[in-house]
Amino acid sequence: MQSKTRIAIIGAGLGGAAAASLMHQAGLDVRLYERASHFERIGAGIHVGPNVMKVMRRMGIEDALNRQGAHPDYWYSRDGMTAEIMSQIPLGDFAVKHYGASYLTVHRGDLHALMMQSIPSEIVSWSKQLEQVEDRGDAVVLRFADGSVEEADIVIGGDGINSKLRETLLGAEPPKDTGYVGHRSVFPTSRIKNFSHDMCCKWWSGDRHMMVYFVTGRQDEIYYVTGVPDAPWDMSRSWVPSSQEEMREAFAGWHPAVQALIEAGDTVTKWPLLERDPLPLWSRGRLVLLGDACHPMKPHMAQGAAMAIEDAAMLTRCLCLTGADQYSAAFAMYEANRSERAGRVQLVSHNNTWLRTQEDPAWCFGYDVFEAALV
Ligand code: FAD
Repeated sequence: MQSKTRIAIIGAGLGGAAAASLMHQAGLDVRLYERASHFERIGAGIHVGPNVMKVMRRMGIEDALNRQGAHPDYWYSRDGMTAEIMSQIPLGDFAVKHYGASYLTVHRGDLHALMMQSIPSEIVSWSKQLEQVEDRGDAVVLRFADGSVEEADIVIGGDGINSKLRETLLGAEPPKDTGYVGHRSVFPTSRIKNFSHDMCCKWWSGDRHMMVYFVTGRQDEIYYVTGVPDAPWDMSRSWVPSSQEEMREAFAGWHPAVQALIEAGDTVTKWPLLERDPLPLWSRGRLVLLGDACHPMKPHMAQGAAMAIEDAAMLTRCLCLTGADQYSAAFAMYEANRSERAGRVQLVSHNNTWLRTQEDPAWCFGYDVFEAALV
């Protein structure tokens, strides 16, 4: 009897975690390798659109997430100086009814923890930094920084923007610095003086913005993330500390509600916004990419992780349809069914136009990766 196809996933980020959870649930023989020794609840929020909640439903964590996160009634876009409403996109009950699931904002660490809880611990290997991958034709050899060596039949690169798998397929090339940074701060809502806030609001000007939302269902923690032009990024750093002074300078003259947020958020970090042009291939032989390893983008649509999670679901769907031993057919089907949508989201994110003015987001939020007709 032929043994099962051994699947190795590199990286337990949001894409890799979704892939491990869904593939294990589908009865595939999967192992997840992560370089970190554990994950922490770092200071960041994340939007989880209905398109992602449908994947969380399959992973069995939809209800827990619905309890964990905030349920914004609307996405507001406002003028950064005057607070004038530029768009008001219905979410809340409207999202459940029209897009098939909730629209949440949540702490990224809480989302990640729930996703990891949906994976049996015995299929996860921590402190495993992949250093070298060799597709021998009949199997793939994985060499890790701790000196260990593993073998798999197919390997999925969920290892983020500086992916070792992408490098193996296409050669070493740093991502592109967009010239923009994102400042991030999470803090207790009670620290904000004199202003109540929309549940989810993006404040805009011509060249910068600030996105603000709650990250808990109790609305006791709030988060902002910016997009601001900045000096060229030192690629040896993944983030650097920032400060309230830097924020005051970047948003001088903005509406008092924005100033109140800046005064309340005393710990600020600064992250580069990096991207790559669409890749000429997503797989070769026994190796395949997903998420930021494949299509990193500016976070301006709040759909970067969403695309990683959708990739994971589509790859699972394709492997189940063809059988994991027919991985070449599965990889081709996966790319054919993902590249157009991921490319569209990458482009809209790059242009930073999403929901700035009134528009219909149904093509993005209404998508169901498990039901979409396959090309
Ligand atoms: P990652 O999350 O980067 O995970 C990669 C994993 O691989 C990590 O755990 C890493 O430790 C591991 N790894 C890397 N190399 C190796 C190796 N050699 N061996 C073993 N393990 C390895 N997206 C949204 O959907 N909504 C948002 O609101 C949002 N906000 C954002 C705000 C900012 C400021 C930024 C910068 C991004 C934001 N994004 C958002 C984008 C989102 O964070 C990414 O698109 C998403 O994290 C990609 O997931 P991933 O699993 O592909 O990669």
